[in-house]
Amino acid sequence: MVKICLQCESTWAGGTVCEDCGGVLTDPFDTGAQWFPKHIWAYIRLQYGARRGMLLRVIALFMGPVVGGWFIRESLVSFSGVSLGLALSGSVGLGVLIWFCIHWIAGRAVRIWVLRRGQFNKKKFMIAMIKRIKQR
Ligand SMILES: [Zn+2]
Repeated sequence: MVKICLQCESTWAGGTVCEDCGGVLTDPFDTGAQWFPKHIWAYIRLQYGARRGMLLRVIALFMGPVVGGWFIRESLVSFSGVSLGLALSGSVGLGVLIWFCIHWIAGRAVRIWVLRRGQFNKKKFMIAMIKRIKQR
């Protein structure tokens, strides 16, 4: 949760009183707080965007090993010899790939979340993505 001091415009991670000036901290999602200047909203979006990205990366750190581990277990049951080696390295590779994909998506998503509302143009975004895919 981000809280804003109405007197000096400092932002805080919580609490009720500003540690800089002693002013009362306000929750930006309270009614009546919408008049905040743009730069404060930009900062709030940055905070929340960064936090969501961090959560996604934590999920990635869990999902990679969980999926990879599950495939390793299945491989140990189903394969032997050379095919077991292939299956094990494939399982590890899959786990790393899943981690990397979610991690990468989190980085992209933070950029989108942090952009000003309305600044993100879905049509332009789709065209840019299609162009990028075509380039490969
Ligand atoms: Zn203050």
